[in-house]
Amino acid sequence: MRAVDLIIRKRDGRALSRAAIDDFVSGVATGAWPDYQASALLMAILFQGMDAEEVWWLTDAMVRSGDSIDLSGISGLTVGKHSTGGVGDKLSIIVAPLVAACGGVVPKISGRGLGHTGGTLDKLESIPGFRVGLSIDEFTTVLRQVGTCMIGPTSSLVPADAKMYALRDVTGTVESLSLIASSIMSKKLSEGARALVLDVKCGDGAFMKNLERARVLAEVMVSIGVRSGVRTEAVISDMSAPLGLTVGNSLEIIECLDVLRGEGPPDVVALACRLASRMLVVAGVHHSETDASEAVGYALSSGKALERFRMMIEHQDGDPRIVDDSSRLPSATAIRPFHADRSGFVAQVRAELIGRASNVLGAGRDRIGESVDHGVGLVMRVKAGDRVAAGDTLLDLHHRDGRGVDAALALCQEAFAIEDEARAPVPVILGEVR
Ligand code: URA
Repeated sequence: MRAVDLIIRKRDGRALSRAAIDDFVSGVATGAWPDYQASALLMAILFQGMDAEEVWWLTDAMVRSGDSIDLSGISGLTVGKHSTGGVGDKLSIIVAPLVAACGGVVPKISGRGLGHTGGTLDKLESIPGFRVGLSIDEFTTVLRQVGTCMIGPTSSLVPADAKMYALRDVTGTVESLSLIASSIMSKKLSEGARALVLDVKCGDGAFMKNLERARVLAEVMVSIGVRSGVRTEAVISDMSAPLGLTVGNSLEIIECLDVLRGEGPPDVVALACRLASRMLVVAGVHHSETDASEAVGYALSSGKALERFRMMIEHQDGDPRIVDDSSRLPSATAIRPFHADRSGFVAQVRAELIGRASNVLGAGRDRIGESVDHGVGLVMRVKAGDRVAAGDTLLDLHHRDGRGVDAALALCQEAFAIEDEARAPVPVILGEVR
């Protein structure tokens, strides 16, 4: 099958056969398909979509592009977690050690920054020495010793996703429901966990901008999980504004440490506790959500979750001293405050624009393989609903020698809306699919 024929078929809105999808995925994984043809097909999929069977075939082919992890030798109840991506979304880094501290086993294959959203791997790599490129043997060893381990796709683990994800990031082909569902579910099925909780983001900073689309994405992914024999459910959560107070790699690690210490911003704490509780229930560690949330609360207040995070860092060759001394994390060279130009209530902080501001400071990539600046980003001083006076600091830009500051300030100007009346607050959790 010629690549160009598949591109034309999808471009014209026709479904691809299972054999055609297999051809595409193995061509991407082995490099037999050049990037320009792979990107063209990704763009055709973005515009024309895929039906449910095509998405299932695509996911299955991506799983088969590499090895799957065999967790049968791990004692304990395994459960995965994945987010569809957002701004300031550092939840995996909190929830994985938290659930491990409560008795679950959390294998985690994460991603890098995608579009305007940050990536768990980039955040973890801001910890000096931390290795996300473990072999499958190393991964299962750490999992057995710590109860969680966080790595990225490799040449042997979902290699098709590693390649397609990187291409999508720089070709404007991220926001496709079919590509998001197959990217996430191929990683989750390769992880080998028996249960899974998905965090489907919805709103300005998410790839699904409204509740209807977010629900469809959640349903598609839950049905792929169930069809594969994995107990799967999804929480739909708000991403109209950045989650928490920090956006940018090491700044987000600092916020994770706060939450794992039993502190941290209420929206992050609420979502972390809900996701962790549902993970413990779907995994079968606890039978009721009440018992699960009690265990989660205790793991945070007793320091057990923080200790688990420290163990994970140590076992993945990172510097565990960052847990007690966050000044060991990379930092920016200067801070530039951004001020309110009028008084009133913060009506809106558009997450996508804040994510783009963080990227122009250097926290994200413009091209495949570029390195990111782990120290830069933004720290919010206010949240939607807060009352502010003209001249108050709305956020701080942490930058390196002025790189991207003017462009980031322009994006922040556009991101904030200040109005005379306060708007009704948006709940953190918008729905669930079980
Ligand atoms: N997270 C992923 O792993 N893949 C996507 O496509 C979006 C979010």
